[in-house]
Amino acid sequence: MDEFSLIQQFFQRLGSRRDDVLVGVGDDAAVLSSTDAGSSLVVCTDVLVEGVHFPTETSATDIGYKSLAVNLSDMAAMGATPAWATLGLTVPVVNEDWLSGFAEGFHSLALEAGVALVGGDTTKGALAVSVTLTGQVPAGEALLRNGARVGDQIWVSGTLGDAGLGLMVHQGNYSCSPDDADYLLQRLNRPTPKLGLGKALRGLATASIDISDGLVADLGHILEQSGVGASIDVSAIPLSDVYLDSLTTEVASLDLAMSFGDDYELCFTAPPEIHGKLLELSKQLDIRLSMIGSIEATPGLRTSDGNLISGAGGYRHFS
Ligand code: ADP
Ligand code: MG
Repeated sequence: MDEFSLIQQFFQRLGSRRDDVLVGVGDDAAVLSSTDAGSSLVVCTDVLVEGVHFPTETSATDIGYKSLAVNLSDMAAMGATPAWATLGLTVPVVNEDWLSGFAEGFHSLALEAGVALVGGDTTKGALAVSVTLTGQVPAGEALLRNGARVGDQIWVSGTLGDAGLGLMVHQGNYSCSPDDADYLLQRLNRPTPKLGLGKALRGLATASIDISDGLVADLGHILEQSGVGASIDVSAIPLSDVYLDSLTTEVASLDLAMSFGDDYELCFTAPPEIHGKLLELSKQLDIRLSMIGSIEATPGLRTSDGNLISGAGGYRHFS
């Protein structure tokens, strides 16, 4: 199968049909109708490399799903609504089963998120997936990393550490019941981007980031860019029941839950006056929201009893 029939068979019509896609896959470039003057475009790219961002044995469907999910998570962090995606795909061989699994994983999530695949490039080489996603946000309302103010409360969605523990399950370094293992692997391979939450936080959150590299590292980016510090109540870090069970073993710890990556939850700051409103929002969206600390003037990240939390956590390429 050559490059062109491959594209036609697997990537011609992935995701949602959108009226604003005038020309999609098939020409030299996609043509999209301009958005209204009241909104800004939001663009992000994430590259996933086999063996670095997903273990070699990950299923094609999960890779297809996750390559879009991590980008949707960036859109969520910005408070944006995703719309159009392009896909740079490098595969070592043309394996039709693999390609159709990949397309299925990508398509299912793209449909759910209202995203159309409008173009891309397909090349031969070591397995790598690069997705570029474009979305929209009302002008001036994008949630940035630099808006945290002294006195703001720090919030986290969902639970932390599950994906990292899932990787340990995958690697054979943590054993638990089959049900728990399923849950943890699902959290690793099928993260749920918090798009609804991100949108709802427009006009409420002062700063926001998605947790891809671990809470300590990602909250660190908010602190740095906002020119502030913070203290967090470690006992308020939200953990799933499955993760709590793992604390009795030597494998997992609270520290790891704060530095493991791949959770794709949102961490955001907001003034204390809207604490109640956020708890209401949590009920409305049926998403767990936990207040874990507050923004302070003194730079650095501390526990509430004043111990410095080192920036050692978090995955860094090239270090
Ligand atoms: P060009 O040579 O002009 O770069 P290509 O032959 O690479 O065009 O691609 C042909 C068409 O197929 C283009 O519209 C391109 O956007 C699309 N395309 C190629 N690979 C992919 C892919 N993996 N996913 C989606 N669209 C793709
Ligand atoms: Mg090309």
